[in-house]
Amino acid sequence: MNDSVYMAELTWPEYQRRVAAGATIFLPLGATEQHGPHMAMNVDVVLPTGVCERVARNVGGLVAPTVPYGYKSQPRSGGGEAFPGTTSLDANTFSLVVRDIIRGLGHDGVRRIVLVIGHFENAWPAVEGLDLGLRELRRDGIADMQAMRLEYWDFVRRETLDRLFPGGFPGTELEHASLLETSLMLLLRPDLVDMEKIPDDGPATFPTYDRFPVPADFGLPPSGVLARADGSSAEKGALLMQDHVELITAAVRKEFSL
Ligand code: ZN
Ligand code: MN
Repeated sequence: MNDSVYMAELTWPEYQRRVAAGATIFLPLGATEQHGPHMAMNVDVVLPTGVCERVARNVGGLVAPTVPYGYKSQPRSGGGEAFPGTTSLDANTFSLVVRDIIRGLGHDGVRRIVLVIGHFENAWPAVEGLDLGLRELRRDGIADMQAMRLEYWDFVRRETLDRLFPGGFPGTELEHASLLETSLMLLLRPDLVDMEKIPDDGPATFPTYDRFPVPADFGLPPSGVLARADGSSAEKGALLMQDHVELITAAVRKEFSL
């Protein structure tokens, strides 16, 4: 029997069986976005998908296909839209994609959904999509859908960050294409990382506000890497992944009484 946790790898009768058995559905929300000269542009797809796969296995859940486009990259959290290849959706479009997926899953009988953010800028448009999806389901007579929304990178122990950043953690916003993401990619997809191309033009020196259009001297490193990526390793990625999976599993079990 096919024991995949990936929804799209199942036949429809097997999917129907697992939904009827109460499977929680994880929906990773990614992006197609530059991640420096040393990593592929699918980092925000690979990482939340990998986290979801492991958590879904822990709780008998399923992973819906990852949304591969995100809300627009912002200079202070992802480098911005000017980088070739960064390809994004309007907030409204993104929210409606999330809405439609939730509506479809709800009509299949799914009653527990976890939206897992893999791209910083998706956070609020995902909330909007979730709100619209739940509203549509209520209007269709389905009022018992339960949902969570989370950023996987928040699920990390203080001790782990202290171990990874002896000089102090720069913060998740500046972690774009930096040590955390690079280490997790070295764990999951080392074939998509070129350690020799790690730049040293960071860290970013942004002010505490945005500007439109983005001025040339805004503090964005030309490489698109916002903090430091040197020192990344698969071992560090494994420490992070362990925290992400353990802590998200615990949160989902608690909220959904699994
Ligand atoms: Zn990223
Ligand atoms: Mn991103």
